[in-house]
Amino acid sequence: MYDVVIIGAGVSGASTARELSRYKARICVVEKCEDVCCGTSKANSAIVHGGFDAETGSLMARLNLRGNLMMDKLCDDLDIPFKRNGSLVVCTDPEKLGDLYALYDRGLANGVRGLEVITDRNRLLEMEPNLADGVCAALHAPTGGIINPFVMNIAMAENANENGVEFRFNTEIMDIEKCEGGFVLHSENGNIKTRCVVNAAGLYTDKFHNIFAEKKIKIIPRRGDYYLLDKTAGQYVSKTVFELPNKMGKGVIVTPTVDGNLLVGPTAIDVTDKEATNTTGEGLDIVLEKSKHTVKNIPMRQVITSFAGLRAHEQGHEFIIGELSEALGFFDCAAIESPGLTAAPAIGEMLADLIKKRLGLEEKDDFIATRKAVFDPSGLSEGERTKLIKEKPEYGTIVCRCEMISAGEIIEAIHRPLGAKTLDGIKRQVRAGSGRCQGGFCTPKVMEIIAKELNMEMCDLTKSGKESRIVLGRNKDWI
Ligand SMILES: Cc1cc2nc3c(=O)[nH]c(=O)nc-3n(C[C@H](O)[C@H](O)[C@H](O)COP(=O)(O)OP(=O)(O)OC[C@H]3O[C@@H](n4cnc5c(N)ncnc54)[C@H](O)[C@@H]3O)c2cc1C
Repeated sequence: MYDVVIIGAGVSGASTARELSRYKARICVVEKCEDVCCGTSKANSAIVHGGFDAETGSLMARLNLRGNLMMDKLCDDLDIPFKRNGSLVVCTDPEKLGDLYALYDRGLANGVRGLEVITDRNRLLEMEPNLADGVCAALHAPTGGIINPFVMNIAMAENANENGVEFRFNTEIMDIEKCEGGFVLHSENGNIKTRCVVNAAGLYTDKFHNIFAEKKIKIIPRRGDYYLLDKTAGQYVSKTVFELPNKMGKGVIVTPTVDGNLLVGPTAIDVTDKEATNTTGEGLDIVLEKSKHTVKNIPMRQVITSFAGLRAHEQGHEFIIGELSEALGFFDCAAIESPGLTAAPAIGEMLADLIKKRLGLEEKDDFIATRKAVFDPSGLSEGERTKLIKEKPEYGTIVCRCEMISAGEIIEAIHRPLGAKTLDGIKRQVRAGSGRCQGGFCTPKVMEIIAKELNMEMCDLTKSGKESRIVLGRNKDWI
């Protein structure tokens, strides 16, 4: 029997697993997909929010601020790309200045440091020369940041794994029942017994919450469509530029990504299908239209792809985190919509603390707090690079020419703890296929490397697990 089983290997589950791995306990993360970071955590704005948006006194506000404050140390310890680039919420209508000041006041009440309302347009243009002509004021939050959400998720999971947490992939939990001393989780691969359960299943947290809780919840998938622009447009703004928030959320943003691209989006459209991560023409048109109000002449010819993510929205618009009184040992981590990425370190800390108390867990003395990212040779001098290539020729073969990723990096990504097994897994770990050509050139080469390193048939290799095979057979077999 496990002490804790966490359902879901997104940022919430991975952070909880890492925090719990500080204690002496048998812990397992079960994930229905083939890898970590396959749900909402892989498709979002990747902003570390300052913390002025959530309602004062809410759990969302408290964990947003705490997560923001924890981010520097977490990213140092786990080698996660993160930059405090600051954010601007811009006002384009003088009659709405009151809303901007209300946001400022809420930020102060939430404990956010360094906030300032700037009404001098010249000063704003010095900060961001491409702001739209109608921008008359902005709320500046210097503590806002940008992060690589894939690496954040992977790093926390890897570190938890190094500290003894087991991961079971391709294992969907279908049902949960109480049993003597805990719970039985019915999965597609058999039953799993545990003393405690953490329900971190993202869009599906309502399903597990509602098995035990008297007060039922309903998670509504709220879609956000995005455009991603090439690195040639990555400097178009330096800060994250927000619209004034509205009842559906924080509005459309224009932001650099920590990897050097420009991101424009998202929409906020409620849908019914929890798997519908497709963009729509209508959604992308909204992005285009709204972004023009905050930033002018965005070089949309530099768009390299579009994508969509689904927020786990619940009517109360509040994180639902804690132990159910109807089922002691069952811990919710539900309705984690934005700012869930920012709050993730604090969510993990909170849940680990509750579970530690429930089970009376003792701290380990051999917890490994740090983790190193996949080795990146791009910072080496020419001499150092030549030496490396002599010793390890795989670093001399550039596979992804857009992002300049070598075979050496891809091979390392495959053989790390929780290593990548699919094309998308490689993309999330080392960015091969994330560039301008979106894998047009490197896909066959990456497939060859995965097949060789994992001793697989090319036909068994997938883009993202399950049925997403890329080649279906050999030509000659069909003749
Ligand atoms: C459009 C958009 C923009 C956003 N922007 C930001 C932002 O800029 N900053 C910010 O802080 N936050 C942002 N967020 C929110 C943030 O992305 C989420 O709060 C966070 O990723 C949620 O993580 P999670 O681990 O709770 O859920 P997920 O990442 O969805 O993970 C849940 C996991 O559970 C697995 N699972 C589900 N059901 C089962 C089952 N039955 N058995 C086993 N496994 C199961 C899923 O496969 C998935 O891997 C945004 C979200 C969206 C959609």
